[in-house]
Amino acid sequence: MLLRLFLIFLPILAFAEKPVIILDPGHGGKDEGARVLSCLEKQLTLRTSYLTKKHLEELGYKVVMTRARDVFLPLGTRVLRANKRTHSIFVSVHYNSAASPAAKGIEVYYYGKGQQSRRTFSRQLAGTVLDNIIQETKASSRGVKAGNFQVIRETVMPAILVEAGFITNSEERALLGTHAYLDKLAKGIAFGVDKYVKSKT
Ligand SMILES: [Zn+2]
Repeated sequence: MLLRLFLIFLPILAFAEKPVIILDPGHGGKDEGARVLSCLEKQLTLRTSYLTKKHLEELGYKVVMTRARDVFLPLGTRVLRANKRTHSIFVSVHYNSAASPAAKGIEVYYYGKGQQSRRTFSRQLAGTVLDNIIQETKASSRGVKAGNFQVIRETVMPAILVEAGFITNSEERALLGTHAYLDKLAKGIAFGVDKYVKSKT
C-alpha cells in the first residue's frame, strides 16, 4: 500500500520539485536600453523572453516574468519580485551594444562574489545556458563572465544575465529582426536551463 502511494505521488513530487524559472526581460517603458535605428533592446528582450517561456513550459516548468509588457520596471522591483520565489532560477535577458560595429557574439554573466554555493551554481548555469545558445544559434561565444549587475547581485537564487548579441553589429541586428533566430536563442536558453536543473536532480 505504501509503495503504491509512493508510486502514485512520485511524479507529482518530481514535478513540484522543479524550480520556478523567473525570466527578466531587460529595460522597458521609458528605458529603451540600446537602440540602433528601429531596433530597440527593450522590445527584443521581451520577445525573446516570451519565446523562452514557451519552450520552458513545454519542458514542464512554471515560468514567471518580471514584466510581461512594455513597462518601466526599476531594478530593485525586479529583484523584489524574484526574491519572493525561493526555489527558483533567475535569467535576465539583454542585448549588447558597443562603439565598435565589429563587436559581436554572446556572453553570459553571473555574480562573481557573495555566497559561495550560489556563485558556483550561477556559474554552472551560465555555462550550460551559453553552451546551448551557441549550439542552437551558431553565434560566436564571448564566454562566461563575472559581472556586477544589480539583478544578479541582489537576487538570492542561481542567477544569470544573458547578453544575447550586439544590436550595433549589422549582421547580428539583421538576425535579431527574424522570428526564426530569436526562437533559436530562446530554445538555447530554455535547453540550457533544463540541462542545469537536470544536473542538480
Ligand atoms: Zn540591457
